[in-house]
Amino acid sequence: MPSRKPDWWWDYSWNPVAGCKPVSPGCKNCFAAQIAGTHSWPFAGSAKVHDDVTDANGTRRIFNGTLTAAPPAHLTWISPLTWGGVENPALGPEKPSLIFVVGMGDLFVEGRPNEDIDRVVASIAQSDHIGLYQIPLIRTRGPIGAVRWT
Ligand code: SF4
Repeated sequence: MPSRKPDWWWDYSWNPVAGCKPVSPGCKNCFAAQIAGTHSWPFAGSAKVHDDVTDANGTRRIFNGTLTAAPPAHLTWISPLTWGGVENPALGPEKPSLIFVVGMGDLFVEGRPNEDIDRVVASIAQSDHIGLYQIPLIRTRGPIGAVRWT
């Protein structure tokens, strides 16, 4: 069983989709774009969803509007169903995992296929192991009741 990284307030990041469309001047300082565009992707088992979703903007990265999703058969889609937890969960001993969903993008951005959103939400709903999901609701265009406690 892995150990939660000490500087994380969550236990596990899950990014089956990625990308966003900037909507304001403030987006030039987007934290998510900076992380998505400057980390070393792909890591082992990555679905490569962060490839080519950002462009350089001076010394920073900005989202370029490209919206990606893991290939339909990629194992990341079922990882909430197979996740075994961490040794030191953020919510405390013996507690369920706190999952950071699409932390480097916008799940509900305009143009994201409903099928991809539905699949993310369905994975959350079907997971027996995960207690709480944290989803950045940057923009909403549909149901936002995607936070689940067990
Ligand atoms: S996630 Fe999208 S909307 Fe939010 S700051 Fe970044 S580019 Fe802008």
